[in-house]
Amino acid sequence: MTVQPVIDVEGLSAGYGGVPIVRDLSLTVGAGEVVALLGPNGAGKTTTLLTLSGLLAPISGRVDVLGATIVGVRPHMLPRRGVAHVPEDRSLFFDLTVEENIRLGLTGERTARRDARDRALALFPALQPLARRKAGLLSGGEQQMLAMARALVSEPKVLLVDELSLGLAPIIVERLLPIVRDIAHQTGCGVLIVEQHVHMALEIADRGYVLSNGQLRLEGRAGDLAANRSLLEETYLG
Ligand code: ATP
Repeated sequence: MTVQPVIDVEGLSAGYGGVPIVRDLSLTVGAGEVVALLGPNGAGKTTTLLTLSGLLAPISGRVDVLGATIVGVRPHMLPRRGVAHVPEDRSLFFDLTVEENIRLGLTGERTARRDARDRALALFPALQPLARRKAGLLSGGEQQMLAMARALVSEPKVLLVDELSLGLAPIIVERLLPIVRDIAHQTGCGVLIVEQHVHMALEIADRGYVLSNGQLRLEGRAGDLAANRSLLEETYLG
């Protein structure tokens, strides 16, 4: 039996104003799998994630998420389908408390919502004593945990994470990335993660894709990519 991937992209061209940035990209993410999307600045990683979360319409190609196309689906419908996106800027409401920000990610019946919130907070115990603090007063690492908790509270089947490490000390990134892997392995959620810390990302990922200038240059098992340092560096340098 073939298991259908939760993300299945084939021949994707995506960009802005009809001008493609990403060209002919094909990639898959399976349930419970962590896949790293890597590449130098401007390679098209964020453009790919924006397309997968329905915020950017593809120019051409097939983009199936959870077995159905996302083309033409309004972006606010995708979370209901089970897609969560942690964007590069984290999109938190700084004047709202930690708890209020988390509540914004909740849907469904009240008890189920409370259970989901408790499970999301259990993944980030550091947030629990901060529940009443305004998001704007949190440290960068705490804000990133909150952005992840808010995404996870809806128990997504697909999680798109853009530059979790942005503005964070490497030691904090080292603590957060394994949580991403645990989420995927424990919940069966398929994770596509864009990350500048290539080697840290490959340590927790199952597979990786490397983009450069909008095109796929390299793909493989994370361990194989990490072991082939010179090829990886060459791909980054173009
Ligand atoms: P980084 O690691 O620097 O975030 P990235 O791989 O995520 O890079 P993208 O953000 O996808 O790259 O950008 C790819 C290209 O698309 C860049 O050349 C960028 O200037 C261009 N681009 C991004 N957003 C827009 C936009 N709204 N309009 C036009 N061009 C854009």
